[in-house]
Formats: sequence, structure tokens, C-alpha cells
Amino acid sequence: MSKELVIISGKGGTGKTTLTSSLAYVMKDKIIVDADADAANMYILTSPKLKHKELFKGNPKAVIDVNKCVNCDLCRKLCRFDAIHINPDGNYYVDEVKCDSCELCKIACPAEAITMKEVYSGEWYESETPFGLMVHAKLYPGAENSGNLVTMVKHRAHVISEEQDIPYILVDGSPGIGCPVISTISGANFVVVVSEPTPAGLHDLERVKRLCDSFKVKSGVVVNKYDLNEEKTRQIEEFAKKEGMEVLGRIPFDECVPKAIVNLQIPYEACESVKRAVDEIYARVMEKL
Ligand code: SF4
Ligand code: SF4
Repeated sequence: MSKELVIISGKGGTGKTTLTSSLAYVMKDKIIVDADADAANMYILTSPKLKHKELFKGNPKAVIDVNKCVNCDLCRKLCRFDAIHINPDGNYYVDEVKCDSCELCKIACPAEAITMKEVYSGEWYESETPFGLMVHAKLYPGAENSGNLVTMVKHRAHVISEEQDIPYILVDGSPGIGCPVISTISGANFVVVVSEPTPAGLHDLERVKRLCDSFKVKSGVVVNKYDLNEEKTRQIEEFAKKEGMEVLGRIPFDECVPKAIVNLQIPYEACESVKRAVDEIYARVMEKL
């Protein structure tokens, strides 16, 4: 079974893309998964060529048949999500964005005027990149279920890895500690947390570490732009050691990195300082997988 390496951060903007895209460049024999379905960006740096695309079904939403509705108002009173309204013509309708798919209105309607309709909330793709196959996804604006979409793309990557005997899966997770991150780290062999040397960076690392612990996933930390605050970097690494996290390495601040990303170059390829740091991080990570 393939081994899954996940890269996450406690919040956006810490340098997760710098590290993940650089690992995608250097890591052999892997499938890349972009699990940041709310704001996927790995495809921007990896120039994928689309091979396969499918729609992703979200939770079904209530729909009212105005021809059956007898205007009893029961559904509107019962809906705890304020999703049922009356339009200027006096017809009842459901606001899809607010509907939480609980089905209470459907069960309660005396006229059997309410049904649940399947809706599509995103798309997922398989693409070829210069660094191997990538499975990625896009959630439609305002759509929910990003956790399920992440689970789906990870599952698809595991199916392909089994079929093609690919030993590693590299997953670019979303920032934070919400539902998509839980789906991302669930079942991972090792999680790399990208942190930054700021008070918020340490606080976010503590939250992410607790999340990894609750899923019994081993984790390590990389401090990006470590030289902007070496005292805070030391505190982050001390926290990591105390909590049983691996200290995997440091990436220095380098103005080359934003320039590389603006020019759609992978930082590993464009910036010597990143290459040196990532080579060491990669060697340590592979020992942990
Ligand atoms: S409960 Fe059924 S009949 Fe009553 S207002 Fe709602 S849709 Fe119409
Ligand atoms: S399914 Fe639940 S959330 Fe959706 S409209 Fe009906 S009662 Fe409201």
C-alpha cells in the first residue's frame, strides 16, 4: 500500500505552497493530491494537462412542488435554517444555499410537495504534470462538503497508486483545522506542518499538533522564513520537541521565492536557498515515511 505524506499549515500564507511544490519537484514515484479544494493552487505551478474530469455530488437539497403545495406554512415554521421562503407570487421555495439537507420539511409536509434533489457542488480531475499524475478538485462557490471532496480525491489517488504500483502520495492540504483538514490528515502516514516564526505561527502549530494527535498521526514541523525571527523559530522548535514532533528543517527568507511564484516557477527550481533546505527536509521526511 502506498504511503501518504501530507503537508498542512495552521493558516494560509506560511509557505505551504513553497514546500509542497518543491517536494513535488524532488520526490520520485508519487501521485500528487491537491486537497485544498476551496482554494486549489498546486495546479497553477504544476501546469497540469487534464486527463479526466467528473462532477462531485453534494448533499441533496429540498425542492417544493408548487402544484402540490397547499400553503400550510408548516415547512417554513419547522426549518431551523431559515431556508424556506415565500416569493412575491405567494409560492413557497427553498434557498439552496441555506438548506442543510435535514429532510425535516419533506417528512412533515402534509401534501407530499417536498422532495430532495441531488446537486453538484464541485468537480474533480486527474491530470498529467511534469512531476507525475495529479488528482485535484474544485468546490463551487458557496458549496459545502469540502471534507467529502477531499476524501474522494484521496481515495482516487490510492486506487490509482494500487493499480499502477506507485509507492507515494503527496498531499497538499488546506490551511486551518477545519473539516477538509481533518479529511486530509485522516489515514496519512506522516504530516508535515509548515510554520512561520510569529506568535500566530506558534499558536497555529499548537492547534494543528492537537489535531494530528487526536487522529494518531505522526507529525513534524518545518519553519519557513526562519531567519525573520530566530528567537520565535527557537520557541517553535522547542515546542515541537517537547510535544514529540520531528523538527524537519528550516527554510530561509529569500526574495527569490515570491518572484519565482509570480513567474510560475517552482521555488526549488528557481531558488538555491530553497533547494538546499528542501533537500535536507526531503531526506528527513523520507526516513519518517
Ligand atoms: S409543508 Fe408542504 S404544503 Fe405546507 S407550505 Fe410547505 S410545501 Fe406547502
Ligand atoms: S431539508 Fe431541512 S434545512 Fe432544508 S429546507 Fe427542509 S427543513 Fe430546511
